Amino acid sequence: MILAQAFSNFVLDLDGVLWRGERAIPNAPETVSSLRDSSKTVLYVTNNSGASPAAVAEKLAAMGAPAGANDVITSATAASLLIERTIPAIRGRVAYVIGGPGLIEAMEGLGLRIVEGKDADDASLVIVGIDKKLTYDKLRHATRAIRAGATFIATNTDPTLPAADGLWPGAGAIVAALRTATGVEPLVAGKPHMPMLDVARERLGSAPALVVGDRVDTDVLGAQAAGWPSALVLTGATGLADLAVATAWPDFILRDVSMLLRDLPHPLVRPAAGPDLPTIATLLHDGGLPAGSARERVGRTVVAEFDRSVLATAAWEVLDGVALLRSVAVGPKARGFGLGVHVVAGALKGIANAGVRDVYLVTTDAEGFFKRCGFHVVPRDELPDGVARHPQITRECPSSAPVMRMELPQ
Ligand SMILES: [Mg+2]
Repeated sequence: MILAQAFSNFVLDLDGVLWRGERAIPNAPETVSSLRDSSKTVLYVTNNSGASPAAVAEKLAAMGAPAGANDVITSATAASLLIERTIPAIRGRVAYVIGGPGLIEAMEGLGLRIVEGKDADDASLVIVGIDKKLTYDKLRHATRAIRAGATFIATNTDPTLPAADGLWPGAGAIVAALRTATGVEPLVAGKPHMPMLDVARERLGSAPALVVGDRVDTDVLGAQAAGWPSALVLTGATGLADLAVATAWPDFILRDVSMLLRDLPHPLVRPAAGPDLPTIATLLHDGGLPAGSARERVGRTVVAEFDRSVLATAAWEVLDGVALLRSVAVGPKARGFGLGVHVVAGALKGIANAGVRDVYLVTTDAEGFFKRCGFHVVPRDELPDGVARHPQITRECPSSAPVMRMELPQ
C-alpha cells in the first residue's frame, strides 16, 4: 500500500517531520517535491508561530521543497481565526504579545495595536507563542495584564520544540508559566484545537487529508478531532516509549516521511488469539526463537496483520513488577518494512496498559534494531532478580547476549 497514492490531500507538520531546527530530515524535501509533482495538494501546518508563512515557505524552498506562503498555516494564522471568531471589534484593540516576528506580524495584520513594556497594563488581549528572547519582564507584563482581565490566548501548548541537538522548551512551557502565575486557562489556537484544522479544511475543501506529524497529543489528536486519518513519523518528539503511554493511536506509523512513497504493508496490530498460535509458532521458528510456552503467553502477545495474513509478533512476561519483552519475530518475506517496530510498539502499549513501566529484553542479533526502538544496553549485574533468574537470560541466550532496557514515561 502506497500512502502517497491512497490520498489526494496531505497536511504535513513541519518540526520533527520536515526538519529539526535548521536541518532538513533526510529525504523529506524530496518526498514533498514528489507529492507535488504527482499533483497532490500539500499543506504545511505548524504549531510554531515564530516565523510568518512567507518566511516558512522560503525556508521550505531553500531546503528543496518549493511552497507558497498560502500553503503554510502557522499557529499564528490559527490564532488570527480564533480572535476573529471570539473577540468583537478587533481593530484598534490594545494587545500584548509574547512571541516571534511571525506572531507579531499576524496580530498587526488583524489591526491590533501591539504595545510593549509597562503599556501592557492597557492590553485587553495577551497572545502568547514561542519566544526565543523570553525574559522575566515579559512574563511579568503578561501576568499583570491577564490578572487585570485581559483575554489570554495561546498559539499552542506544545511542551517542547524539536531542535537539531534535542528538545527545547516549547510555547507550552511559556504558557504554563503564565497559567501558574495567573490561574487562568488560555484559549488555544494550534493543534489539536480546531481553529488550526478549520483553516486547513477551508483551504482544502471537503476532501479528507492524511495528517502527518511527530506528536500524538497535537497531530494525531488534532486529526481525530477533524475526522481525518493520521500518520505518526518517528523522526521527531515521539518515540515508541511515548507512543506506548499515549492516549490515542495513529492510523499509520512511519519511520520517516519518505515512507509515504514506499509500498509498505501498513498492518493492524492487535492482541493475539488462539487461532493465531500456529502462525506465531512458524514466525518464531523461522526467526530461530524458541516457541516454548507461546500458548500460555497468548494473552500477552500481539500480532501485526495485513491483507488477512499475520506477518509479525511480539510477546511479554511480567516478573516482579517489570516486563520482559520477548519472542519478537517478523516473517522472512516481510522483513525490512518496519513491521518489527509495529509489534514492539503494540507490545509496549500492552505492557503500559498492565501498569508496568520498566521493560527488559535480551537479544542475540538485534541490538541495533532495539536501539532504534529506544532500548539501551544495561550491565547484567544490575538486573532485577526476576529478570536475572529468567531462563531466557540464564539458559536460552548466550551470556554474551546484551540485555537491554527501556523505561516508559509515567
Ligand atoms: Mg512537530
